[in-house]
Amino acid sequence: MKNYTQSIAAFQEAQKHIPGGVNSPVRSFKSVDGDPLFIASAKGAKVFDIDGHEYIDYVGSWGPMILGHAHPDVIMAIQKTAAKGTSFGAPTLLETEMALQIKKMVPSIDSIRMVNSGTEATMSALRLARGYTNRELVIKFEGCYHGHNDSFLIKAGSGALTFGTPNSPGVTSGTARDTLTAGYNDLDSVKELFNRYPEQIAALILEPVTGNMGVVIPEPEFIQGVRDLCTKYGTVLIFDEVMTGFRLSKGGAQQILGITPDLTCFGKIIGGGLPVGAYGGKQEIMDKLAPKGPVYQAGTLSGNPLAMAAGLTALKILDETDGFYDMLEDKSAQLGEGIKKCLADLNFPGVVNRVGSMFTLFFTEEEQVNSFADALKCNTVTYAKYFKMALESGVYLAPSQFEAGFMSAAHTSKKIDKTIEATYEALKVLKG
Ligand SMILES: *Cc1c(COP(=O)(O)O)cnc(C)c1O
Repeated sequence: MKNYTQSIAAFQEAQKHIPGGVNSPVRSFKSVDGDPLFIASAKGAKVFDIDGHEYIDYVGSWGPMILGHAHPDVIMAIQKTAAKGTSFGAPTLLETEMALQIKKMVPSIDSIRMVNSGTEATMSALRLARGYTNRELVIKFEGCYHGHNDSFLIKAGSGALTFGTPNSPGVTSGTARDTLTAGYNDLDSVKELFNRYPEQIAALILEPVTGNMGVVIPEPEFIQGVRDLCTKYGTVLIFDEVMTGFRLSKGGAQQILGITPDLTCFGKIIGGGLPVGAYGGKQEIMDKLAPKGPVYQAGTLSGNPLAMAAGLTALKILDETDGFYDMLEDKSAQLGEGIKKCLADLNFPGVVNRVGSMFTLFFTEEEQVNSFADALKCNTVTYAKYFKMALESGVYLAPSQFEAGFMSAAHTSKKIDKTIEATYEALKVLKG
């Protein structure tokens, strides 16, 4: 057993002063029934905890670290920019440069507004869609996560066509009434909602490939059907690409799926590891935003120079490195296929879902995981055991079954092989 004394003590101290000891719940390791590691530093594919252990990292700060941790060009850009002042509350050239870079990589973006987190991006995109359509309802999908806005912390009501109920105390029943919930990969459930409220649905939002119930892949008829319904009913289709944007390809999930949304939300990679979000899309819709239009949205630190410098540097590397996404696909395929082989060799029940550098190993007896209902059938106890054994072997996975793992450009073939070996050994023990 590794000695985690320092992390355990640090967590005890943190819990006295910070709710649950963490500034974002999943970090607490509650889902795997453990104590979190406190991180001292990270470099490339590795993170180092305060007890002096090193790990091959597949959390990647929950997505941003596609280039690996502490990439020298990103760090240099932050340092150089910081020396010139860290915030002015006035326009800078970097913001236009960022907008141009995003537009170049994601052709559906005519105009883009920077904010400070993914949560802020989805919240603002929804307000904009409502302002643009003069409608109030929004459709979201079971198992998709769009940040912690009230409107999205809603679960399905008792019947398919009933209004949602709050998923968290503090969310009002009034807000819940404006959010409708459909099933992922269940086009009929979406059709029913449009049939029932043909002229009231302002927006439909989804993760075009999900990461937040684990990786679930949209069926082509589902995602095309969603696009067609939104067009038919005049509803704004919002792709939440906070996780998939700049990860699944230069142009995100929309590029690989061949579907053009009306608005897209970004976060994570776009900030190069600093707190950033953004939302953008069709000119006609974006023109409704203040100061040009009537829909209000603002931010004291939005477009912050440090965040723009870090994000822009990362995006340029992704855009300008020949074969970057092919390289990432090769690494991810090595891991994905390797884990599948472990399952097969040991005759261990499980499903590996992977799109590019996002992957989840689901511990399930089912043949496939295509929806939130499928994901919920997974054995979270087995996952927790696997997670802890992986940590012992020096592999840092997401501390929950319902998350995506992330490959970075810094993961070498040797590290990936080590990860597959650790998985094989853990599954062998679990097999008993
Ligand atoms: C992470 C995430 C968010 C929330 O972003 P924050 O920066 O944590 O507020 C929203 N949507 C998706 C799909 C995400 O993965």
